[in-house]
Amino acid sequence: MANIMNMKKDMKCVEHLPNTNGVKHVPDTNGVERVPNTNGVEHAPYTNGVEHVLITNGVEHVPNTNGVEHAPYTNGVEHVLNTNGVEHLPETIDALVVGAGFAGLAMLHALRERGYSAKIFEAGHEIGGTWHWNRYPGARCDVESMQYSYSFSDELQQQWHWSERFAKQPEILRYLNHVVDKFDLRKHIQLETRVTSVIYDEDRSQWAITTNRDDHIIAKFCIMATGCLSIPKDPNIKGLDQFKGNVYSTSHWPADDVSFIDRRVAIIGTGASGVQCIPMIAKQATHLYVFQRTPNFVIPANYEPVDSEYEDDWKSNYTQRRRQSLESPAGIFFGYVNDSSIATMTDAERFEEGWKRGGFSFYTAFQGRLNDKAISEIISKLICDKIRKTVKDPAVAETLFPYDHLFGTKRPCVTSQYYETFNRDNVTLVDIRNKNIDEITPTGIQIEDKHYDVDDIVLAIGFDAITGAIFNIDIHGRSGQTLRDKWTIRPRTLLGLMMAHFPNLFTITGPGSPVDLGNMIPHIEENVKWIINCIDYLKMHNIDSIEPTVNAQNAWMDHVDMVAGQILCSTGNSWYNGSSLSGKTNCVMRYAGGFNNYLKMCENAAMHDYAQFFVLKRSP
Ligand SMILES: Cc1cc2nc3c(=O)[nH]c(=O)nc-3n(C[C@H](O)[C@H](O)[C@H](O)COP(=O)(O)OP(=O)(O)OC[C@H]3O[C@@H](n4cnc5c(N)ncnc54)[C@H](O)[C@@H]3O)c2cc1C
Repeated sequence: MANIMNMKKDMKCVEHLPNTNGVKHVPDTNGVERVPNTNGVEHAPYTNGVEHVLITNGVEHVPNTNGVEHAPYTNGVEHVLNTNGVEHLPETIDALVVGAGFAGLAMLHALRERGYSAKIFEAGHEIGGTWHWNRYPGARCDVESMQYSYSFSDELQQQWHWSERFAKQPEILRYLNHVVDKFDLRKHIQLETRVTSVIYDEDRSQWAITTNRDDHIIAKFCIMATGCLSIPKDPNIKGLDQFKGNVYSTSHWPADDVSFIDRRVAIIGTGASGVQCIPMIAKQATHLYVFQRTPNFVIPANYEPVDSEYEDDWKSNYTQRRRQSLESPAGIFFGYVNDSSIATMTDAERFEEGWKRGGFSFYTAFQGRLNDKAISEIISKLICDKIRKTVKDPAVAETLFPYDHLFGTKRPCVTSQYYETFNRDNVTLVDIRNKNIDEITPTGIQIEDKHYDVDDIVLAIGFDAITGAIFNIDIHGRSGQTLRDKWTIRPRTLLGLMMAHFPNLFTITGPGSPVDLGNMIPHIEENVKWIINCIDYLKMHNIDSIEPTVNAQNAWMDHVDMVAGQILCSTGNSWYNGSSLSGKTNCVMRYAGGFNNYLKMCENAAMHDYAQFFVLKRSP
C-alpha cells in the first residue's frame, strides 16, 4: 500500500519506486515512465498520467475515472479507493446479472424473491434490451403478446392489458418498465454500464467483475443475460462515414421520432427488422430504395386489436395454456386453433388456411410435417405464387423469391403489407445478390455505374448473433482459461446454460440451447428457473461451485449436431449457424430438437443432485 501512495506522490519525478517484484520502472523516450509487466511486456501509463500497477496475478490495475488508483489487496482481491481516498473492499454480492432485457429482469426478480443480494449491469441507458434498442418504425413482436410475456406472476398476467395481438415496441417497453416497478427492481439495476471483464478467483470460488465505468464487484454467481440479438453486425461498407445525410441502424434506433417525410431513403437489408420497417418508411418517404441481398419468406401477420373476448379467453385459461406451450416444440400454444377442419384438406387448401391464420399460426396448418423436405418445397412454391399474384411487376416479384433456402429452414419473417409495398410508385427494389455496394458516397450509394441519390440510409443488416455479446466480454475461468480461446472453433456449452472450466457462470438462452426457435420468453423463464434452483441447491448443501463435466458438455454438443443433421432447419444459411457473419465459423449454434425435449434434458441434468453432468466443489 505504501508503495502505491508514494508512487502517486512521485508522479512527476524521473524514477519511480521499484515494483514489489524488484523490476525498476523505465523512462520512456518522451520522459513518461513505462512499467514492465511480470512477463516483461511494458504497459503504458494511463492518459491522465496515472500509472497502472500490477497485482500478483499480473493483471493491471486501472485508475478510477477520478484518477485514483486501485490498490492490490494482500490476498489478491482489489481494494478500491473512495473519492476521499479511503480504501474499501469492492462490493460483494451473491449474483451479478449482465443485461436488463426480458432475461436479466426475470433473473433479477427470481434472485431477489429468494433473498439473494443481486444487481444488474446494463449497457443501455434504459431497461428493456431488445425493446429498448430496436425502436424502428414497425417494430413489434412476431409471437402474440398474450404469450410473448412473463408467466411468473399470475397477478401480472391478469392485470396487464395488451392493446394489440402483436404489440408494438413502445408497448412492450412499457410492459417491461411496469414489471420493473411492480416488483421494485429498479434500485438493483445500474444503467449505462457495460461489463468488460469477468475473472474467476478459483481459491474463493467467486467472480471479479469490472465495467467500463470502473465498477469492481465480487459475485459468487455471474449470469449472462446478454441477449442473442444484442450486438449489431458491423456494416463494413466503404465510405459510410463520408455520407452527408443521416445513417440509422434498426438495432440502435434513436429515441426521438424520426421523420422520413420529404426524404429519399435507402434501406439495406431485408431480414426480420428490414421487412417490418419497409412498409412503414415507404408510407412517408419521397422515395424508398430497398437494397436486397437475400430475400426471405414473409408471412402476413394479421395485426389486430385485442378484443375482450380474446383477452378473457386467454386470462381464464392462462395456467393451462402456459403449461401447454412448454410441452410444444416452439414454446407456443396453438391449441385454440380448431385443427379438425384441416385434417381432410389438400396441401394447397392447408396453405390457404395457414396464410389466413397468419403469423406462426401458419405452421398449424401443416402441423408436424415441416421437417419433410417435400412439404417445404410445396410451401416455398406456394409462397412464390402468392408473391407473383401480389406484386404487379413480374420482374420485381421474381426478385423477391427466396433463392437460397426452403421454407422452414430459417425463422420466417412476419409482418403486414410487405409484398404489397413493392407496388408503390415510390418504392424501388435493388437486387444486390450478385453485386456488392461499391461505396457510400457523400450523397448516396454507388453500385457499379449507377448512383442512388438519397438523404437517409437505414441499416437493417442484422446481428453478431448468439455469441457476439458474450465474446465482447473478457471472461477468464479456472486457471485463467479464456472463453474466447475455448470458443475459437465453436461455442461449447451444456444445454446453453453452463460451460466447463467456468464454474458458477450461467448463460440464459446461450449457444447450444433452442435459441430463437419460437417464443423466447418461456425459454428465458425456464432457464431462469433452472439457474435459481441450482443456486438454491448449492447454498442448501454448502457447495462452493458447479460446472459441467467436459464429457457431459461434449456429449451435449454431439447431440446438438446429431439433431441438426436430421432436421431440415439446420440446412439454411442463417445467423443461427454463424453463416451470416464473415470470420465466424459456420457451425450449429442452437439445439433444433424442440423446446419440449430441451426442457426434459434440463430437468434430467439437475436430477441425482446434479452429479451425472456436473462437478461440484464443496467447501473445505
Ligand atoms: C427486433 C426484434 C424483434 C424480436 N421479436 C421477437 C418475438 O416476437 N418473439 C421472440 O420470441 N423473440 C423475438 N426477438 C428476440 C428477442 O431478442 C428475445 O425475445 C428477447 O427479447 C431477448 O431478451 P434477452 O434479455 O435475452 O436479451 P436482450 O433483450 O437482447 O437484452 C440483453 C441486454 O444485455 C445488454 N448487454 C449485452 N452485453 C452487455 C455487457 N457486456 N454489459 C452490460 N450489458 C450488456 C444489452 O445492452 C441488452 O440490453 C426479437 C428480436 C429483435 C431484435
